[in-house]
Amino acid sequence: MGAFEASLAFARHCDRSDPLRKYRSMFYIPPVAGKPSVYLCGNSLGLQPRQTKRFVEEELADWAKWGVEGHFHARRPWLHYHTFSKKALARLVGAKPIEVVAMNHLTVNLHLMMISFYQPTAERYKIITEHGAFSSDQYAFESQVQHHGFDPRDAIIELQPRAGEHHLRTRDILDAIAQHSAQVALVIFGGVQYYTGQFFNISAITEAGHQAGAFVGFDLAHAIGNVPLSLHKSGVDFAVWCSYKYLNSGPGGIAGAFVHERHAHGALPRLSGWWGHDARNRFKMEKGFSPMTGIDGWQLSNFPVLSGAAHLASLALFDQVGMSALRKKSVRLTGFLEYLLRSLDPEEKHFSIITPRRSAERGCQLSIYTHHNGRQLFEFLTRKGVVADWREPNVIRVAPVPFYNTFEDVFRFSIWLHEGIKRLDRKQGEAPIQKRS
Ligand SMILES: *Cc1c(COP(=O)(O)O)cnc(C)c1O
Repeated sequence: MGAFEASLAFARHCDRSDPLRKYRSMFYIPPVAGKPSVYLCGNSLGLQPRQTKRFVEEELADWAKWGVEGHFHARRPWLHYHTFSKKALARLVGAKPIEVVAMNHLTVNLHLMMISFYQPTAERYKIITEHGAFSSDQYAFESQVQHHGFDPRDAIIELQPRAGEHHLRTRDILDAIAQHSAQVALVIFGGVQYYTGQFFNISAITEAGHQAGAFVGFDLAHAIGNVPLSLHKSGVDFAVWCSYKYLNSGPGGIAGAFVHERHAHGALPRLSGWWGHDARNRFKMEKGFSPMTGIDGWQLSNFPVLSGAAHLASLALFDQVGMSALRKKSVRLTGFLEYLLRSLDPEEKHFSIITPRRSAERGCQLSIYTHHNGRQLFEFLTRKGVVADWREPNVIRVAPVPFYNTFEDVFRFSIWLHEGIKRLDRKQGEAPIQKRS
């Protein structure tokens, strides 16, 4: 990792020597006022690969040509569609093909996994998770706990950072798990926390959870396609993710799930449907569910081919580049962003970065916690052509994505942030009633 310089010339130099530079042109970069935006929102909705259209059109053409026979005769026979993404997904999360499948949507998969892996008893019924998890996850946890007749206020333990800190220390997470070892049924964390950008230590948390006698799962919405993962080796019991963030598979795209091989042949309780039934006699339509081995046995419905096609188009790009090359660029790109931000406000008068400093503890996202005028600052950036996102009460999340963002994007963002701060400060000077905190 070379040292950085805060100049446009330096940013452009980095772009010229970027081995992944050709990939940007394989995506559509949404324009703002006729110019390509500085799109830093791939953590919310990843951009569209140019080849996605072809993949989707191929399915439409095969549907037109074959009708129902497309299940067998389409170029990618629909009957087997769930198998086509397995290898790529397995590589992305560090798993075996038998452990991963694309299906449903994230929150649905979270519920399906919790039905199997949250089996509370009178003694062991608690869930340990991070404080401030994504709302949908919180609702899922609450409703699961209630479904089993427990009180969420008692059954859900949310771990908070220490006073004055913005993210959790791994040691504190492990200690909390050990402390509740008699009562914990499930430990579930985000892989990368959506708000702070903290990349949790998946192996350490999994080991601690297992030692405590609990199952351990992760929500990888912000981790898959962003950070290196090795779910199989880490021994994680289950994981879920969506594909429209870093996986660039389109709005509301098909999600995915992982169940560790050690549960592949077992008879974990589950909610079942015909697509999870033994494929050899699925069409006998008989009574008596007999699951396929591995995660495939958790499928409910036949495969959504159109969104699956968009998924395949994007996964093909991930296979071309590989996570290690993406991660390498990502660490440097986010490092550059952090360097620029820290140089423009070294004393943290205007904002603090609440994402961990160590690159091993974060993905590409930095969360900028503004101390004043946050919302106006965000709106100023938006007018300049930055696409980022605002999270109440005062955080601007920015995610330079190594697939399609450039060092120049990052540099431009920092210049505009600086300009916005200066402007708003001047305005504030004119109206001295407003208090700075
Ligand atoms: C994006 C995200 C979701 C969204 O859930 P959907 O079921 O895909 O609508 C849920 N949880 C986390 C942690 C997320 O980041």
